[in-house]
Amino acid sequence: MYALAERLYPICRSITGNGLRETLQILQDEIPLTLHEIPSGTAAFDWVVPREWNIRDAYVSNSNGEKIIDFQQHNLHVLNYSTPMKARMRLDELRPHLFSLPDMPDWIPHRTSYFNDNWGFCLTQRQLEAMPDDTYEVVIDSSLEPGALTYGELTIPGESDEQVLLFAHCCHPSLANDNLSGIAVVVELARILGESSPRFTYRCVFAPAAIGCITWLSQNLSELGKIKLGMVAALLGDSGELTYKKTSSGNALIDRASLHVLRHRNVPFHTVEFSPFGYDERQFASPGINIPVGRLTRTPNGAYPEYHTSADNMSLISPSALADSLSAYCAIFALIENNHVYQNNFPYCEPQLGKRGLYRTTGGHGNPEQRQMAILWVLNQANGQHDLLDIAERSGLKFETVAGAAVELVAAGVIRKV
Ligand code: ZN
Repeated sequence: MYALAERLYPICRSITGNGLRETLQILQDEIPLTLHEIPSGTAAFDWVVPREWNIRDAYVSNSNGEKIIDFQQHNLHVLNYSTPMKARMRLDELRPHLFSLPDMPDWIPHRTSYFNDNWGFCLTQRQLEAMPDDTYEVVIDSSLEPGALTYGELTIPGESDEQVLLFAHCCHPSLANDNLSGIAVVVELARILGESSPRFTYRCVFAPAAIGCITWLSQNLSELGKIKLGMVAALLGDSGELTYKKTSSGNALIDRASLHVLRHRNVPFHTVEFSPFGYDERQFASPGINIPVGRLTRTPNGAYPEYHTSADNMSLISPSALADSLSAYCAIFALIENNHVYQNNFPYCEPQLGKRGLYRTTGGHGNPEQRQMAILWVLNQANGQHDLLDIAERSGLKFETVAGAAVELVAAGVIRKV
């Protein structure tokens, strides 16, 4: 995952254009992703797919011809989606087009101007302070032309055509935690799910944030009824603790599953209530779409100082944090895959467990006492109503323990799957 993020890091991505396309093509080396090109001008609900932005070069040079702000040094130096520009101007004319972070003088901010034609440069506060009044040459060799918005999608077929959505945004330029970490985790998760013959059908979508998500939703409107739940994956490589953001209702299966897994990992985590702000969870929660989509990040957006700056680089993320995030995602989807509802075949009092080999206090199980409790709980709650997660939550037992008991009870013919 780290190596993939490292490979993608230098590319200048945006909500459209060749950087985005190249990123998705690189993902095709990892998983069998299908790329979709939605032409500029296509309606997407209340939006329109914008013109495609491409950039070759951008710089500001001083009167000695020295490049003092250079896109080739860092792609955050150009205001993302800048219109083309070629002019000579004094500092006071240039100044409204320069963006810096006075409080973080060594970091370049990440700024965009997607739906408002503008041009500009982002630079460190130290670079800005070192610019004397001079005549500067300003060059932005970009284009904004009819083209397409690209997104990538992989469907992993399951036994059921009920679907689970995994969504990662992929429109940020050289920012590691904010976009590359989520992409890398979803790629790896897709690979694992693809090898596992899943029960649900998984749809992994890699699209630009906001307009890309809206475009994908508008292109898939007739299919959305099949999507049972989903997760937005982002910000998964920093050293912070995991943070689960609940769906709008707060009690969907994705909420219950995520919180159960996080509570039983024995490491601190955070929960935040839904708000229509952040990443694309708000599109999925809009009244016409209404799909329960949670969001699992490490430190949330805006809650770490490096967010949307050049300090969100490859040193902010680590292989161990990515691996920890992936393990949480795997546990959540393993739970959802195995969360069945059962009916007791012997509902009149407790069936005789001893004669079926289900009453053992010793054996190969990690915790015989918990196993015995799990068997009693599953038998008691197997009325065709409660899923295993309900039983795990009510009993205080780990989902795996309860699911293991259900497997034994099915094998002994005592319960059946509904
Ligand atoms: Zn962002």
